Amino acid sequence: MTKYYHLSIDLDSSTSTCQDCTQLFDEWLGGTGVATKLFSEYCLKPCEPLSPDAPVIFAIGPLNIIFPVMTKTVAIFHSPLTGNLGESHAGGRLALAMFESQNHLISIKGKASYPSYIVIENHQLRIEKAKSLWGFSATSTERILRNKEKGLGKRSIMRIGPAGERLSPLACVTVDSSRHFGRLGLGAVLGSKNIKAIVISGNQSLPVPNNKTYTKEYLKLHQTITQSTVMKKYHDLGTPMNVLPLHYSGALPTRNFTQGFFEGASHISGEAFAENDLVQQISCAGCPVGCIHMASHREVYDPQNHMVKTFKVSYDYELIFALGSNLSISSRSEILKLILECERQGWDIMSLGGTLAWATEAYRKGIIGAKESMGEHLRFGDSALYHRILGYISQHANPFYADLEKGVAYCSSKYGGKEFAVHFGGNEAPGYLTGMNAFLGFALGVRHSHLDAAGYDIDQKSAQFASKTDQLLALYRESLERMIFNSLTACLFSRKVYTSDQIVRCFQALDDTTKTKAYLEALSHRILGLKFECKFRLGFSWDSLSLSQCFEGFSTPQSVLRSEDFKAGVSLFSKWIDEDRKLHRKAATLIRF
Ligand code: SF4
Repeated sequence: MTKYYHLSIDLDSSTSTCQDCTQLFDEWLGGTGVATKLFSEYCLKPCEPLSPDAPVIFAIGPLNIIFPVMTKTVAIFHSPLTGNLGESHAGGRLALAMFESQNHLISIKGKASYPSYIVIENHQLRIEKAKSLWGFSATSTERILRNKEKGLGKRSIMRIGPAGERLSPLACVTVDSSRHFGRLGLGAVLGSKNIKAIVISGNQSLPVPNNKTYTKEYLKLHQTITQSTVMKKYHDLGTPMNVLPLHYSGALPTRNFTQGFFEGASHISGEAFAENDLVQQISCAGCPVGCIHMASHREVYDPQNHMVKTFKVSYDYELIFALGSNLSISSRSEILKLILECERQGWDIMSLGGTLAWATEAYRKGIIGAKESMGEHLRFGDSALYHRILGYISQHANPFYADLEKGVAYCSSKYGGKEFAVHFGGNEAPGYLTGMNAFLGFALGVRHSHLDAAGYDIDQKSAQFASKTDQLLALYRESLERMIFNSLTACLFSRKVYTSDQIVRCFQALDDTTKTKAYLEALSHRILGLKFECKFRLGFSWDSLSLSQCFEGFSTPQSVLRSEDFKAGVSLFSKWIDEDRKLHRKAATLIRF
């Protein structure tokens, strides 16, 4: 039987303990289930997201590394952006390093007394001084630590940039070369704990199962992933393949979501990036797909002597929308330049791009003026201006620019302009103007993200449903299925490969016959119920959800958006979730942790 271990780190005392947590994995599967359960135990009384008591929890799943594309690590924390439950997933080598170090679950509490970085080698902990790293970009920090901390066997490096040190709620955690715990401000949480980076490595490699069933399942999965069309699109153009179809269907957010098509779309399409800028496709450890698209970007640092540096910059659909169409920028090199600066600072690009778009509209409408902008004329499409603004924000050049790295919800509350503030539950909106299901998905999802239920997909298939209720039911079913997927910490791109039958067969190949379809279905309700229990404990309410005024009467490819439809959707969805919460509470009395 597989054993699972929990490394618990107390930064107040610079100590750690490692305990067997197999029972927790048995009951909550792994990833999001296990991490949320532990979070709920730690946060019986809510605390401030940036207080030392606030925990950060990382978890991998029971199939990680053992099967292909089981590559992610889940982070659960108290989000400084939404003030509610934070959840973010990252790939790279982190899951492999946690697996090889036999730390399936890592929790961090307390606060280091000086800027530090954490080194985990198998079950051993070291806390090192990071004063010399404080202020360094996320990209430079990785380079320095890669040389300094060689580690044991497989190694992964997480770090924050200056944005995390400044406790920006938009700050992300960068993992290895180009993966992120992007959304909801985990970077600020680590910054508040004085933690610049975490280097984790291990060499306790476990033998893979030695039976014919396992080999057969693995090879079949590998073949489907690499030789069928199911995941080919992710390798070929990657998610930027979405730019043109969304533009042609009127669903590509442009200029702060004021229209769904962008006149420069052909210049920033997946095809244009692939033909002109793409230099490499790389993969998370344990994945044969290679969907991470890297572009080459030249930076001139000494024009007189023609001195340039070339950088590899990873790009995907969300980054292209957030710093491209939504800011009306149609130059790929300018988008790459902005991405690179955000990577250095360690900002979540979707949230920062959304905030820049809000600021531009606020300036156009006279809500902010020259005093706030320091004489800059904010206008869509001016990439040089946006580059300067990134500099002002990172320098906190004045109170307004300092506020911009707190996000749309904060800025629109302070300065006005709520009527065109595009956020859901405090999280800046992802790039889909497809219809009501996308928006309901952002609002109702645990993370207020497109990753909760992919409502955009339901919008695009809306003709296949008999009623709006059926569409909403599909949204709810997708949320449930993702509870299992995220507990396995599978990459969401593989959700058509890992059907529920396939997941059961994977467990059977590992001699685990307890994970039946009925068991997983019941567990999905309990995990979703638990998550919403945590959200309510942290202050969430259904009443807090509303459709931004700017979308009232807005025409999308699926429908015309109306507040009353939005409210009806929230009301119905909340009834289903309340049933899951009750189910969780009932089951919780039977389970002891
Ligand atoms: S498909 Fe892409 S994001 Fe998913 S595991 Fe593979 S390389 Fe990572």
